[in-house]
Amino acid sequence: MDDCIFCKIIKGDIPSVKVYEDDDVLAFLDISQATPGHTLLVPKQHVADIFAYDADLANRVFSKVPLIARGVKAAFPEMKGLNICNNNGEVAYQSVFHSHIHFIPRYSQQDDFS
Ligand code: ADP
Repeated sequence: MDDCIFCKIIKGDIPSVKVYEDDDVLAFLDISQATPGHTLLVPKQHVADIFAYDADLANRVFSKVPLIARGVKAAFPEMKGLNICNNNGEVAYQSVFHSHIHFIPRYSQQDDFS
Protein backbone atom coordinates (compact mmCIF):
# COMPACT_ATOMS: atom_id res chain seq x y z
CA MET A 1 0.00 0.00 0.00
CA ASP A 2 1.85 3.05 -1.32
CA ASP A 3 0.04 5.62 0.80
CA CYS A 4 -0.04 3.66 4.08
CA ILE A 5 2.06 5.24 6.83
CA PHE A 6 2.61 1.93 8.65
CA CYS A 7 3.66 0.18 5.42
CA LYS A 8 6.22 2.98 4.99
CA ILE A 9 7.45 2.41 8.56
CA ILE A 10 7.72 -1.35 7.90
CA LYS A 11 9.73 -0.66 4.71
CA GLY A 12 11.98 1.77 6.59
CA ASP A 13 10.92 4.75 4.48
CA ILE A 14 9.66 6.54 7.62
CA PRO A 15 11.70 6.32 10.83
CA SER A 16 10.37 4.61 13.95
CA VAL A 17 11.67 3.43 17.29
CA LYS A 18 11.56 -0.34 16.83
CA VAL A 19 10.75 -2.53 19.81
CA TYR A 20 10.50 -5.95 18.14
CA GLU A 21 10.58 -7.37 14.62
CA ASP A 22 10.23 -10.78 13.02
CA ASP A 23 9.04 -12.10 9.64
CA ASP A 24 5.39 -11.37 10.44
CA VAL A 25 5.22 -8.31 12.69
CA LEU A 26 6.85 -5.05 13.70
CA ALA A 27 6.41 -3.36 17.07
CA PHE A 28 7.42 0.28 17.51
CA LEU A 29 6.78 3.21 19.82
CA ASP A 30 3.66 5.25 19.09
CA ILE A 31 4.66 8.73 17.93
CA SER A 32 2.11 10.21 20.33
CA GLN A 33 2.81 8.54 23.66
CA ALA A 34 -0.49 8.23 25.55
CA THR A 35 1.71 7.15 28.47
CA PRO A 36 5.45 6.41 28.48
CA GLY A 37 6.08 3.15 26.62
CA HIS A 38 2.97 3.30 24.39
CA THR A 39 3.76 0.72 21.71
CA LEU A 40 2.07 -0.44 18.51
CA LEU A 41 2.21 -3.99 17.11
CA VAL A 42 1.44 -4.25 13.38
CA PRO A 43 1.36 -7.10 10.86
CA LYS A 44 3.90 -6.61 8.08
CA GLN A 45 1.22 -7.66 5.63
CA HIS A 46 -1.16 -4.77 5.00
CA VAL A 47 -4.56 -5.55 6.46
CA ALA A 48 -6.93 -2.69 7.16
CA ASP A 49 -8.62 -3.98 10.28
CA ILE A 50 -9.63 -7.07 12.25
CA PHE A 51 -12.19 -8.04 9.62
CA ALA A 52 -9.48 -8.51 7.00
CA TYR A 53 -7.42 -11.17 8.81
CA ASP A 54 -7.53 -14.83 7.91
CA ALA A 55 -6.99 -17.30 10.74
CA ASP A 56 -3.34 -17.96 9.89
CA LEU A 57 -2.36 -14.29 9.86
CA ALA A 58 -4.36 -13.65 13.03
CA ASN A 59 -2.47 -16.45 14.74
CA ARG A 60 0.90 -15.14 13.58
CA VAL A 61 0.13 -11.60 14.79
CA PHE A 62 -2.02 -11.99 17.90
CA SER A 63 0.13 -14.80 19.31
CA LYS A 64 2.87 -12.14 19.72
CA VAL A 65 0.76 -10.04 22.11
CA PRO A 66 2.12 -11.61 25.34
CA LEU A 67 5.69 -11.30 24.06
CA ILE A 68 5.28 -7.58 23.35
CA ALA A 69 3.48 -7.05 26.67
CA ARG A 70 6.39 -8.64 28.55
CA GLY A 71 8.87 -6.54 26.55
CA VAL A 72 7.04 -3.31 27.37
CA LYS A 73 6.95 -4.28 31.04
CA ALA A 74 10.66 -5.11 31.02
CA ALA A 75 11.48 -1.73 29.46
CA PHE A 76 9.11 0.21 31.76
CA PRO A 77 9.25 -1.79 35.02
CA GLU A 78 7.59 1.00 36.99
CA MET A 79 4.30 0.45 35.16
CA LYS A 80 1.52 -1.03 37.27
CA GLY A 81 -0.76 -2.30 34.49
CA LEU A 82 -1.24 -2.40 30.74
CA ASN A 83 -4.15 -1.61 28.43
CA ILE A 84 -4.15 -3.56 25.15
CA CYS A 85 -6.59 -2.38 22.51
CA ASN A 86 -7.33 -2.62 18.82
CA ASN A 87 -9.55 0.00 17.18
CA ASN A 88 -11.56 -1.02 14.11
CA GLY A 89 -13.35 1.57 12.01
CA GLU A 90 -13.61 5.33 12.21
CA VAL A 91 -16.44 5.24 14.71
CA ALA A 92 -14.20 3.10 16.94
CA TYR A 93 -11.45 5.75 16.74
CA GLN A 94 -9.27 3.97 14.18
CA SER A 95 -7.29 6.67 12.37
CA VAL A 96 -4.61 4.59 10.62
CA PHE A 97 -6.14 1.91 8.41
CA HIS A 98 -3.37 -0.63 8.75
CA SER A 99 -4.39 -2.89 11.60
CA HIS A 100 -2.48 -2.33 14.83
CA ILE A 101 -2.64 -3.24 18.49
CA HIS A 102 -1.98 -0.59 21.13
CA PHE A 103 -0.02 -1.40 24.30
CA ILE A 104 -0.53 1.44 26.78
CA PRO A 105 1.27 1.11 30.11
CA ARG A 106 -0.64 2.35 33.14
CA TYR A 107 1.20 3.92 36.03
CA SER A 108 -1.86 4.85 38.06
CA GLN A 109 -5.61 5.04 37.60
CA GLN A 110 -5.11 8.78 37.25
CA ASP A 111 -3.10 8.45 34.01
CA ASP A 112 -4.50 11.16 31.80
CA PHE A 113 -5.34 9.73 28.38
CA SER A 114 -8.46 8.88 26.46
P1 ADP B 1 -6.13 6.88 17.27
O1 ADP B 1 -5.44 7.97 16.51
O2 ADP B 1 -7.55 7.23 17.69
O3 ADP B 1 -5.32 6.28 18.38
P2 ADP B 1 -5.62 4.41 15.89
O4 ADP B 1 -6.09 3.35 16.83
O5 ADP B 1 -5.79 4.17 14.42
O6 ADP B 1 -6.35 5.76 16.17
O7 ADP B 1 -4.10 4.66 16.23
C1 ADP B 1 -3.18 5.14 15.31
C2 ADP B 1 -1.94 5.44 16.09
O8 ADP B 1 -0.86 5.59 15.19
C3 ADP B 1 -2.03 6.73 16.92
O9 ADP B 1 -1.85 6.43 18.30
C4 ADP B 1 -0.91 7.58 16.35
O10 ADP B 1 -0.26 8.35 17.34
C5 ADP B 1 0.01 6.53 15.75
N1 ADP B 1 0.90 7.02 14.69
C6 ADP B 1 0.54 7.75 13.61
N2 ADP B 1 1.63 8.01 12.86
C7 ADP B 1 2.68 7.41 13.48
C8 ADP B 1 4.07 7.31 13.19
N3 ADP B 1 4.63 7.88 12.10
N4 ADP B 1 4.86 6.61 14.04
C9 ADP B 1 4.33 6.04 15.13
N5 ADP B 1 3.02 6.09 15.46
C10 ADP B 1 2.21 6.76 14.64
